[in-house]
Amino acid sequence: MLKISNKFYLIEGPNHGQYPYSNFLFIDDQIQTLIDTGWGRESLKSLDNKTIDLIINSHFHLDHRGNNKAFPNAHVWIHRLDAAAVKSRESFVDYYVGNFSKEGVDLSNISESPVHREFENNELICLGEVELQVIHTPGHTPGHCAFFWKEEKILYAGDIDLSRSGPFYGTMASNIEDFIASIKKLKELDPEVFISAHEGVIKEDIQGGLDRYLSNIYDREFRILDSLRKPRTLEELVLLKPIAGVFREPKDLYYKLEMFGIVHHLQRLIKAGQVFRDGSYYMQIQPGTSRIGEV
Ligand SMILES: [Zn+2]
Ligand SMILES: [Zn+2]
Repeated sequence: MLKISNKFYLIEGPNHGQYPYSNFLFIDDQIQTLIDTGWGRESLKSLDNKTIDLIINSHFHLDHRGNNKAFPNAHVWIHRLDAAAVKSRESFVDYYVGNFSKEGVDLSNISESPVHREFENNELICLGEVELQVIHTPGHTPGHCAFFWKEEKILYAGDIDLSRSGPFYGTMASNIEDFIASIKKLKELDPEVFISAHEGVIKEDIQGGLDRYLSNIYDREFRILDSLRKPRTLEELVLLKPIAGVFREPKDLYYKLEMFGIVHHLQRLIKAGQVFRDGSYYMQIQPGTSRIGEV
């Protein structure tokens, strides 16, 4: 465990918390708390069988709450909008792929966890000395939250992770506009210690990191728009990999995640009047031309 402040400890997941692992927090206060629980038993070793009273999950993804089940006596709290996907496997799959493509989805690896309380934006969670403010930061998932201890300006930002490959919005329930607003919200908090679930503790150039993270979204959108100088189908766009750049294994999964991300961008571009759809083809609307009725 890495001591961050007098109450906060970082628990680093295997491989420095890179996906499918993650980094999470132990708060040593009157109410002994974990913010997220990571994935895989190895992640829990440094906790030395500590009693955990409360688990606060940043969102429903398994790399952040797969170990909830290791603490059967702890209460589990999560934002209202992500609770269903923690409580039920079927909702979990819905949040990922919706009705789009459920064939081949293996439900057996998706653990369920009880939820004892569903919180809302701006709630204060008092753990003793530490008072955590819930910062609802949707986009990655509908109920994704960050947690801020104002007194020490420490922020746990979950999967607003400032990774070079992020932000990630490649699921049905993700939303790019929300993600942009959430990044801006964290900038306004102006934290001095930024804890990323996949990059660890960041103390230098947090504002610059958030700016670069935000510009990744606009860069991807530019690449998509630029590739639509000629008509392309969604499948052709996916193979250009404008978001991920490269597909990791399993390639089938990353193909789908890329597709969802591109669909979210296309919806934005169509709404902004920059792209139109003609059957299964998408194309850029050239400045100065007018298109009627394609949206
Ligand atoms: Zn996530
Ligand atoms: Zn994650």
